[in-house]
Amino acid sequence: MYQALKEGVLPITSVCNMGCVFCSNRYNPKSCEVFSIGPRDLEDIEETIPWLQGAPGAIVIGESVTRINEGEPLTHPHFMTIVEKVRDAYPEKPIRVTTNASLLSPEKSRRLASLGVELIISLNTVGKRKEVMADPEPEVTLRNVSALNGVIKLEGSIVALPFVTGWDDLRETCRFLKDSGAISIRLLAPGFSAAHPLFKEMPSSTWEECRRFAGEMTRALGIPVLFEPPVLRDLCARVEAVMEGTPAKAAGMRAGDIITRVAGIQVDSRKDAFELARERENPKITLLRDGGQIEVALAKPRRTSPGFVVYEDLDLRAFSAWAARAGFGRKAPPLILTSSLARPLISAALESRGLEAQVVTVRSRYFGGNIQAGGLLTVGDFLAAYNNALRDLKPPSTVTLPKRAFDAWGRDLEGVSYKRFTEETGCQVVLAG
Ligand code: SF4
Repeated sequence: MYQALKEGVLPITSVCNMGCVFCSNRYNPKSCEVFSIGPRDLEDIEETIPWLQGAPGAIVIGESVTRINEGEPLTHPHFMTIVEKVRDAYPEKPIRVTTNASLLSPEKSRRLASLGVELIISLNTVGKRKEVMADPEPEVTLRNVSALNGVIKLEGSIVALPFVTGWDDLRETCRFLKDSGAISIRLLAPGFSAAHPLFKEMPSSTWEECRRFAGEMTRALGIPVLFEPPVLRDLCARVEAVMEGTPAKAAGMRAGDIITRVAGIQVDSRKDAFELARERENPKITLLRDGGQIEVALAKPRRTSPGFVVYEDLDLRAFSAWAARAGFGRKAPPLILTSSLARPLISAALESRGLEAQVVTVRSRYFGGNIQAGGLLTVGDFLAAYNNALRDLKPPSTVTLPKRAFDAWGRDLEGVSYKRFTEETGCQVVLAG
């Protein structure tokens, strides 16, 4: 219920009819508290649906949320009824379903389209489906995906494993998704804990090569192929792509444009630019392009997507709220313990606000491998990073830890409370992000 309210995610089942090699849960450390659930009772789901009213954006079915593993939603015996009930309760909200498409018959796709559902097709590979996903019937899945073209709005998603599938397969998978009607493709970086056998097989250059590949495919296919996580070093609102048939496209916006103002308001980050443009009716956008400044106007109603794509960076309103609590102005600057991915953005935000803080990167010792996400760090990781850096630190006024590493009760993935950090170090902890 909490996650329904906070994130708009509706967990329905952890059951899946496939077994992807990149599924990490089999290789989690033993103390990692994650849960698998069978198909939830319809009654139970009906009780959760009212909590989705807080969903910040789309209502999402088929994505894992915090500790609950989500499986393939179409394996739920009441899947269509669940979607109908969600639609009845929220006639206006976007509903997004992530699926491997193996159970997506043409009738179901049409029904989902009539309910205004958008799909994220987690395809991953066209040529190595048995090896990579244990897909029992690859031809059926691929036929289902092909049949979606022109029927329903869809995006594609691929966990990039070029060292397993080969680059040609990755290229064909992108092309197949485009030919099936995908308006964009998310190319997800492979992330493995140290215990996962694929971690040792993955060349260290994979992420960088995939990033370049995503750029090549965007140019070749004419739809955004976006590598995640991006390496963001600043808060500059750079447009990564512009979707076909959108207000941004009609106004002539292009990939590479830098948004500086929306409706006359100076933008502070990518997230800021996107949210301002989404909220406004017919916003004027000021852009930097080829060293010059131009202005375009987007013809769109309020609270609709502008049609340009930016990577998500920092929420500067939340950042300002954090800064008010973090103890700036006291004797020693606050300390921020953060992931390697978030560190450059935090440093950029501090600089833009003229704030001085001590920032330390935290490595995932708990999962090891190439895991870098802040949400997968544990209290043990934070303590280790703190103790390592202690010699070079001024005793901080407060220590900030990423909120996403903790659940609603303040517990990390091992079930350890963030309060343990205070008990062991005597430092006051602030959760943020
Ligand atoms: S299809 Fe999705 S839920 Fe099923 S095993 Fe693969 S990654 Fe996991």
